[in-house]
Amino acid sequence: MTETRWERMTAPELRALAERNAVVILPVAALEQHGPHLPVWTDSFIGHSIAIRAAELCADLPAVVLPPMWTGLSEHHFPFGGTISLDYATFAGVLRCVMRSLLADGFSRLMLFNSHGGNAEPLAVASREMAH
Ligand SMILES: [Zn+2]
Repeated sequence: MTETRWERMTAPELRALAERNAVVILPVAALEQHGPHLPVWTDSFIGHSIAIRAAELCADLPAVVLPPMWTGLSEHHFPFGGTISLDYATFAGVLRCVMRSLLADGFSRLMLFNSHGGNAEPLAVASREMAH
């Protein structure tokens, strides 16, 4: 099976993917409480796992999955503990820096894959801002 995980590839392998116009998938997740029974990594684990499986299924479309962006917007989870959250300006800034880095690496296609409800609206706004 073809490797799809960014962190396991070498720079020359990634450069070759950029030359093939590969889609880069960024799981956008969170580090937050998930009730008393699940670890705080749940959103990141789910988003990353689904993105990897999706990339593996794209046999005709080169795709590579970045490690999950594990900090999302989770301030509404602060009362429950175990939560690390960004504010919107930082969240959008991290996304812009990831995108800028990908452009510098020669990639031109980025798919943002959300796996946390609190990211939905901020991600929609940030992606619209970045589209320009
Ligand atoms: Zn969540």
